[in-house]
Formats: sequence, structure tokens, C-alpha cells
Amino acid sequence: MKSANGRPRFRPILRTCRLIWTAARGQTIAWTIILVVLGVLPVATVIWIRLLVDSLVAGLRAGVSWTAMRPAAEYAGLVFGTALLIELAQSALEWTRTSQAELIQDYISACIHRKSVEVDMAFYESPDYYDTLYRARDDANTRPALLLEHLGSVVQNSITVVLLTLLVARYSPWLILVMIFSVAPAFFVVAHFNWLQHKWWIETTTERRWLQYYDQKFTTSAAAAEMRLFRLGPVFEQAFSGLRKSLREQRLRLVLRQSASRMGAALAGLAVVGLALAWMGWHTFHGSTTLGDLTLFYQAIAGGQGLMRGITSSLTQVYGNSLFLGEFFAFLDLKPEVRDPRRAMPRPRDLQEGIAFQNVTFHYPGSERVALKDFNLAIPAGRIVALVGPNGAGKSTLIKLLCRFYDPQVGRITLDGVDIRQFSLADLRASLSVLFQTPVAYDASVRDNIAVGDFAAAANGSGVEAAARAAGAHEMISLLPRGYQTLLGKSFAEGTDLSGGEWQRIAMARAFLRKSPVILLDEPTSFMDSWAELEWFDRLRKLANSRTTLMITHRFTIAMRADWIEVMKDGVIVESGTHDMLIRRDGFYAQSWRDQIEASRTATPAAV
Ligand code: ATP
Repeated sequence: MKSANGRPRFRPILRTCRLIWTAARGQTIAWTIILVVLGVLPVATVIWIRLLVDSLVAGLRAGVSWTAMRPAAEYAGLVFGTALLIELAQSALEWTRTSQAELIQDYISACIHRKSVEVDMAFYESPDYYDTLYRARDDANTRPALLLEHLGSVVQNSITVVLLTLLVARYSPWLILVMIFSVAPAFFVVAHFNWLQHKWWIETTTERRWLQYYDQKFTTSAAAAEMRLFRLGPVFEQAFSGLRKSLREQRLRLVLRQSASRMGAALAGLAVVGLALAWMGWHTFHGSTTLGDLTLFYQAIAGGQGLMRGITSSLTQVYGNSLFLGEFFAFLDLKPEVRDPRRAMPRPRDLQEGIAFQNVTFHYPGSERVALKDFNLAIPAGRIVALVGPNGAGKSTLIKLLCRFYDPQVGRITLDGVDIRQFSLADLRASLSVLFQTPVAYDASVRDNIAVGDFAAAANGSGVEAAARAAGAHEMISLLPRGYQTLLGKSFAEGTDLSGGEWQRIAMARAFLRKSPVILLDEPTSFMDSWAELEWFDRLRKLANSRTTLMITHRFTIAMRADWIEVMKDGVIVESGTHDMLIRRDGFYAQSWRDQIEASRTATPAAV
């Protein structure tokens, strides 16, 4: 059997059981024992009540005396004691299930978090990935608990029903069939509609993600300014409510069909039970069964039918939840393509030769456009190389490839002649200090915002402060209300926000904290004023010392101070040299330099 998206339907149930067992072993054992107890006790009650009714009738016939009524009193005590035990077991079950659900929820969150950082960056380029992630996260935390609850009710009620059926079968074996057929139609109706609902849920994933997107525009700070300035509220509201209306109508149509079918199935079940009760009443009327038997039969049939309905509904819930959990498991099964090699080379320490891109051709996943075409570049060890070029030339792509966020389709990238695919991912990335074009601003203290660059170095005394000084951030941090302990970001109480340039310095300190042989900086001075820029470069030269540095920049005033300049255009290097060499050459760089100088004279910024 296949699910709406073609995967086997029942495998997720087994995987969920394994997951539950791994996440909460002790609780699961206790849960099973309590369920068995709770399954048996209601049958004991039915038997005690039958004996109570019969001993009451016998006692009344023998005259109302303590001796005659004593058996009835004892059975009444047993009924009461069993009821007490059921209550106790219910409370124990509730506690066990809650603690089990909490553990499972944490386990699932950990699985999703681990997987989210393990998958390739390429996954973030694909709408399919977002659909899978959305479906995996949607209720994934609560679904196992629901599945557990319904699975528990199936186990418990099945034990009761089997025992009750055996009791009823004493009167006639075909009553077993009566019990089964009274609920079969309901079972099929609910199973069918569960499947339809799951199919609808899969098919509407993208629409529901659009809803989430519109909703986020209203509720996140990133869009708050433009939402107000461009009066985007009504625009997004209209898109949101239009989509909601369509989804709501589809869902209500489905539920309407489901209710009508369920009603028909319930009526059929009731008719079967009515006939069985009439048959038993006829026997009691003719004296072939006792009043106690009729009570037992009524309890068993009515109770059994209720339980069967419960089992049916729980089974379909188990099935429904397992369909949803199938999506969670599909997410866990995603395999990254950028992986560690079988036998990794030792971690690159100090570079002797440098970094080389050799005949690299690369296009982003899902994109037809080639970002780098037969690309060659050598960055000698210990040098500061500036990389300049127009927007979209492919500069940032080089950094992403060096970090192995992607692997090129053709060619190789080497550190001291060793293909970077031969290092373990952790080692390779540990040997790079990177300042990304759009670094992340964490809602954490200044110290922690820098420490994320290298927790081990941060734990070592004055590492964080030294990195902040190197990035030119120390003075600014000293002026903050609680210095390095100041909470950054505005999402939490007492948080302080920084300007773009100040954030950039914090991010730079984060990169500088890591004492790695390679420094990669993507537009490190884009937010800095020109005075700060020159001072910053002097500090970089001291810090870089003998480390190999690649600095992407649009500012010629900073590029001209590098040891070497590479000029990139349309995915290839078009010119290389020192600033003077390139000016003498009077090519693309010289032209762009003149444009920028001219633009700065007329106070209009221009980029290469
Ligand atoms: P800028 O100076 O504007 O930062 P850049 O030189 O750093 O530009 P890259 O970001 O490397 O340029 O982009 C190179 C090319 O790859 C561009 O054509 C860009 O549109 C494309 N590109 C970048 N990122 C992606 C992506 N994630 N998916 C598809 N194409 C991308």
C-alpha cells in the first residue's frame, strides 16, 4: 500500500514505534503494563456486575437477610474496588504518557535540528526542500504523542473487546460477527477520509507556505519598515485572505462529505446492535437466560460496540498520524551530497603554497546560469589578495565553494595542492576565518556574538577582546551599557541594537577570533566610512601577518592597498596585478577606478 506521495503507508508506524522506544524506553514499558491492566479491568467489572445482579436476585428470593445478601455485598465491594483501581491506573497512565510525550518531543526537535544543519546548502535552493521541511515540522512534535495516545487506546480497548467478545460468544458464536460488522462501515469511512485529508494536506503544502510567508511579513521586524512605508498591509492581507478562503472552502467540502458518510455508517452499525439486543431480550423473555445474563449481554454489546468504535477511530488516527510522520521521516532520510571523504587528510595548518581554483565550472543547483566557467585562480600563501568585480561576477561564490557549501560540477579547489574534498568538512571549515556578506546578528551578548567564531578560543582569557580590538570594535563595545555583556538584538528585554557598521565590526571580530591559516572577507568595509576603512586595513595587515587572505571589495581605496588584485567579470578573472600595474595597463580595472574616483568627487558612490 502506498501513501498519497507514493511511499509505503505502514512503515512510518514501525519507525515511530522504534523512535518512541529510543526516546523514552522506561516510560514505554510502564505505559504498556498500565494499558494491559486497563484493558482487563473493565471486563472484570462486567463479570462482577453480572454476579452481583444474579446474587441480588437470589438474595431477594431467599428473603432479605445479611446471610442471603452477603454475596451481593461482596460483589458490590469488588465492583467498587475495580473502579478504584481503574481510576488509579488512569492517573498513572496520564503521568506516564505526559513524560513520554515530552521526551519524544525533545527527541524529535533534536532530530530536526541536527538534520537541518546536516543537509546540503543546495537543499535551501529548492522549493521542494522547503515543502519537505514544512511538512516535516508541521505538527511533527505533537504527532508522535497523538499516535501514542491512539495506539494506546487501540491496545487497551482491543484487550477489553477480545475478552468481552469471548464472554458474549458463550451465548452464540455469531455474535462475534455482529460486533465486527457493527463497526466495519465506520472503519472504512474514516480510513478513506483520513487518506483524502492527507492527500489534500500534501497537495496544498505550497499554498500553506505562502500563508506562512504573508503572515511573517506582518509579524517580523525585517519587513516592518517597508510594510509601513509602502503601505503593504492591505496588499498582503488581500493575498492572505484570498488563499485562506480557497483552502477553507476545500477543507469544509471534504469535512461535509466525511460527516455524511460517517452518519450513514453509524446508522448501519446501530441497526445491527438493535437486532442483536432484540434477539437476546427474546431469549430472556422465554426464560432461557437470566436477568444477570441480559445485563452482561447489554453491557458487553453496548460497551463493546462503543469500544470498537473507539478502536476504529483510534486506528484511523494511528494511520493518519503515521502518514504525517512519513513526511518527518522523509526529511530525516535526506542525504547530503557534500560529505566527508572516506579517509580524510590531516587538517591544513599553515599554508606553504596557497589556495588554487583549477578549471572550476559551477552553477547553482536548479539554476541554468553558469556562475563560474572554467575558472582559474591562484592565491599565494601569506598574501592579501583583493578580488574586485561588478555585481554578479561570481566573487561570493568563490567563498561558498571554498567552504564547501557546494561542490563544483567540474574542476577542483586546492589548499597547498590538496583537493579540499579530501579534508573532513569540520577540519576544512575550521581552517577558514570567514566574514560573510550578510553575517548573522545573534540575539546574544556581545561576547557570545563574537565567541561563536571559535568557542574554544573564546574560553581562553582575552581572546574575544583581542579579536574585537583587531576588528576595531573594542571602543564601540566599551561604550555599550554593559560592555561585552550587553545583550544585542531587540527581541528580548534589555536588548540593544547596533548600526549596520557596528554589527559588521562584531561579525569581523567573530571571524578574527578564529586563528586559522586562511581569512576570507566578503565586503568587510561596506558599512564603514572611508576614514575607518584605512585604519581598519592597517589592523588587518597586522592581524593577517603570514595568513592567506582573500578580500572581496567594491572599494578601490581598500583594494589598492592589497598585495595583489584580481579583477573578475562574468565568472572569469579578466585582469590581475598590483594597483599600479593595473592602472598602467589601462583596462577594465583602470576604467572602473577612474569612474569611482570621478564619482566620489561628485559625491555619488559607484561600484566596480
Ligand atoms: P555581488 O558583488 O553583488 O555580491 P558577486 O560577484 O559576489 O556579486 P555571486 O553572489 O557570486 O556574485 O553570484 C554569481 C552569480 O550566481 C550571479 O549571477 C548570481 O545571480 C548567481 N547566484 C548567486 N547565488 C545564487 C543562488 N543561490 N542560486 C542561483 N544563482 C545564484
